[in-house]
Amino acid sequence: MPTAANAAVFADHDVQRDWCRDALARLQQEAARSADTHLLKVDLPAFPGIGFYFKDESSHPTGSLKHRLARSLFLYALCNGRLQAGQPVVDASSGSTAISEAWFARLLGLPFTAVMPACTAPRKIRDVEALGGVCDLVDNPADVHARAAWHAARGACHLDQFGLAERATDWRGNNNIAESILQQMGREPDPEPAWIVCGAGTGGTSATIGRYLRYRGLHTRLCVADPAGSGFVNGWRMRDRNALATQPTLIEGIGRPRVEPGFVFEVVDEVVEVADTASIAAAWLLEDLLGRRYGGSSGTNFVACLQLAEAMRARGERGSIVSLLCDRGERYEQTLFDRDWLRAQGVDPAAAFERLAGRLALG
Ligand SMILES: *Cc1c(COP(=O)(O)O)cnc(C)c1O
Repeated sequence: MPTAANAAVFADHDVQRDWCRDALARLQQEAARSADTHLLKVDLPAFPGIGFYFKDESSHPTGSLKHRLARSLFLYALCNGRLQAGQPVVDASSGSTAISEAWFARLLGLPFTAVMPACTAPRKIRDVEALGGVCDLVDNPADVHARAAWHAARGACHLDQFGLAERATDWRGNNNIAESILQQMGREPDPEPAWIVCGAGTGGTSATIGRYLRYRGLHTRLCVADPAGSGFVNGWRMRDRNALATQPTLIEGIGRPRVEPGFVFEVVDEVVEVADTASIAAAWLLEDLLGRRYGGSSGTNFVACLQLAEAMRARGERGSIVSLLCDRGERYEQTLFDRDWLRAQGVDPAAAFERLAGRLALG
């Protein structure tokens, strides 16, 4: 015979299971309503025989590749029994993840707090607030993890993008980003890319792509493009997980101050370091090539693509290179696309822009 107290616990348990089932159904409905993102093809006359493809992750409903991650993190928390009806949700984020998580929290009717550095682009802070989220701003970017843990200790569900990105995504398939790219490449002249290029924020995207390439037995190599002096760039050289950044970066979403727990060094084939001025110049150039604005990390990826393509051209190779357009450029109208703001940061990408345009023979 269950005691009265026990019965209350079990009844509560049933209510929670019902809520969890309903929440999962809502996430599945959202996935069914969403279309896959486009794979844009660009021919650059300076690189005959090399096809450039850009996976446009800005076209998700929340404007960045973090839409995939946020969906996965909520699914992971629900299926692990860590997320209950009415429970507040928290995460540390430089912005893009927070926007996507706020969107999914609203979908599930849960209060959401984003812990972010005070220097995050104002537009992103407004976007989180417009979705009903609360922004808890910290002065030192290195403090975001401790502050998120502080909220979790008071009962919030910590989605923990930096701790869980690498495992929350089903790397074997289930329409993850790697499966989607390779399926979309199916009818191209070189369907098995020579390279896939992505950045490293949580490390989740690179882990998923690297694992999937092995799982499918492909020859495609994985290149991570990251800002010069980042924690990951420094850690990669010595395979040292304790390495720290030696330089700050203006490129949001990547260039982490430390080697995040989700980085899987073993599945990365090459790391290309990119100066911020080159990343910003490349983001400007992408607008000329694609007719739309994308964020700084898309520029970082593009610089690495060019470097890899030049090496292929020098060796007389042909093939395809796939890269990611990680988020919408509108988020950076007051920063990377604002010359006054750039001047105030002591950054002038004009010369880098001319050099890049020259390498593309767009002159
Ligand atoms: C998160 C992010 C990345 C890096 O992706 P990860 O999967 O977290 O490594 C790149 N660009 C932008 C804009 C991001 O928000």
